[in-house]
Amino acid sequence: MHCPHCGSQKVHPRPWGRKVGAAIGGVAGGIGAWEATQAKEEVDTVTGSAVLSALAGATAGVLVGAKLGEVVDANILNLQYCLDCKKQFSI
Ligand SMILES: [Zn+2]
Repeated sequence: MHCPHCGSQKVHPRPWGRKVGAAIGGVAGGIGAWEATQAKEEVDTVTGSAVLSALAGATAGVLVGAKLGEVVDANILNLQYCLDCKKQFSI
């Protein structure tokens, strides 16, 4: 395989979907868990458990997001990155 922009053979797979999926999943999971806890408890007793819940939600979100991203990478994007001209392309 070679780069369609410059013809270089120094191309690497770019796990774009996985990273973005993990980031989105982590943020969404953390926010979702945080809000769920905030809604249930009084504000002055909430801090510890809300933080733990948010972290747990974020962790779960990252795992789910990364998994979804892997599927996107494998089936849809299949992005490659050229080390010479720094452009990315799909195959
Ligand atoms: Zn190139």
